[in-house]
Amino acid sequence: ANGWPGVRVVVAGIGVSGFAAADALLERGAQVVVVDERDGPGQRERGIILETLGATILLGEGRTHVLPQVDGGPPDLVITSPGWPPSQPLLAEAARARVPIWGEVELAWRLRPANGPGGRPAPWLTLTGTNGKTTTVTMLESMLRAAGLRATSAGNVGTPLLEAVLHPDPFDVIAVELSSFQLHWSYSVQPQAAAVLNVADDHLDWHGGREAYAAAKGRIYHDAEIACVYNVADPVTEQLVREADVIEGCRAIGFTLGVPGLSMLGVVENVLCDRAFVEERATSAAELGTLEDVETAGGGTLAPHNVANALAAAALARAHGVPAYAVRDGLRGYRPEPHRIATVGILRGVTYVDDSKATNPHAAAASLAAFDSVVWVAGGLAKGARFDDLVAANAARLRGAVLIGTDRELVREALGRHAPDVPVVEVDVTETGDVPVMDVVVARAGQLARPGDTVLLAPACASMDMFTNYAERGDAFAEAVRSRLGSGGSGGS
Ligand code: ADP
Repeated sequence: ANGWPGVRVVVAGIGVSGFAAADALLERGAQVVVVDERDGPGQRERGIILETLGATILLGEGRTHVLPQVDGGPPDLVITSPGWPPSQPLLAEAARARVPIWGEVELAWRLRPANGPGGRPAPWLTLTGTNGKTTTVTMLESMLRAAGLRATSAGNVGTPLLEAVLHPDPFDVIAVELSSFQLHWSYSVQPQAAAVLNVADDHLDWHGGREAYAAAKGRIYHDAEIACVYNVADPVTEQLVREADVIEGCRAIGFTLGVPGLSMLGVVENVLCDRAFVEERATSAAELGTLEDVETAGGGTLAPHNVANALAAAALARAHGVPAYAVRDGLRGYRPEPHRIATVGILRGVTYVDDSKATNPHAAAASLAAFDSVVWVAGGLAKGARFDDLVAANAARLRGAVLIGTDRELVREALGRHAPDVPVVEVDVTETGDVPVMDVVVARAGQLARPGDTVLLAPACASMDMFTNYAERGDAFAEAVRSRLGSGGSGGS
């Protein structure tokens, strides 16, 4: 990695990770051109900083339609923003010209300094999946820290991986969340242990189909050293392990909500057990905590998917050598990230839960499964998803549904087919006037609910038709619940 001076690099996209990439490359003496279609205050601000460091910044419409020259010649390398599909014109041109295209993850792997334990780079524990990534990676971080390790989580989770890798205070180990996009643009990462949590349909349009999407996720196992962690309940994940080229001696480790077999982590009675990484001379499974600990870690709700997330995190931690007690302590000390099955209020015996992060049907299914009797708030942008399986599997627990957003008709039709007796209310944003739409949603949901029910915002859809993002959608829901709490829950019911 000393060969950077003079290397000509195009950085595609001046977001947070593009900025980190350009910055790191400039510092190493590379010639850098950064392009982006967007030309807002954020892009300009980052552009000015990079310009002072010697980069050329090209912002505005059309800038990403062609592969720019760097210092009067063709680029040697393109670093792409993870969201850009291979068909994007600049990337397609680079591919035709046989210019290598890396994501930020590949760059971070190549630039990682040998400043971890034993004068080697800090090992990476990596995970991916359609749903549960952020929860699992932050649980993993909590377990690693409980073992006294200097650990951080990075990647798709917020902190760019480059920032973690090049952090002035080096880490002992890095917990890495990877999206399927990021995996598509990574090639040489060798994780100490890697996990695929689940594979359900999402982003199929980007990857060009189901196979390609699963294959991108499967790349995470490539060259794994100690363990490939798979989900026993999701045969696709096990298949991906079987197809992976791993380092000799690397083991396949399953996690299951049932009783674990050999080389698995699972649940016995209400105890999380590890039968894969058993201490030498131990005769029984290692105990990693209880379902109550998972309930605490879930913010008070025992959701089955969080048991799976906890076991997956535990498997990666154990592969790194974390003792059982630290896994348990890490779980006990964990608190969920916002908008993931967060109870926002209880009103007349009805519990209001914000799971705005359930942005696809697979996530919403996990979410609904955590409750017995639900008034379901759903809808938004479907992204090509279908709702029949989701509704059919959950019809019995639905007390009612309140539907919002552009694609709410799709949800309504699925309800009509599979749960025709469930009362449905539609709220159209154009009809609520000055009243925030979530106030109306919460009022209608409250009317449908009975004491003991849960009103669950788990939309199974993206939020961008009505909100900036899922967080804003969840905040609006919580705000509406709070204002009813404040007014004693009057009005509407
Ligand atoms: P990601 O980072 O993959 O989007 P999160 O941990 O943020 O995942 O969880 C997103 C949503 O997915 C949660 O709000 C929940 O509804 C659902 N979810 C979490 N874990 C799982 C899982 N293991 N399987 C299915 N759905 C899950």
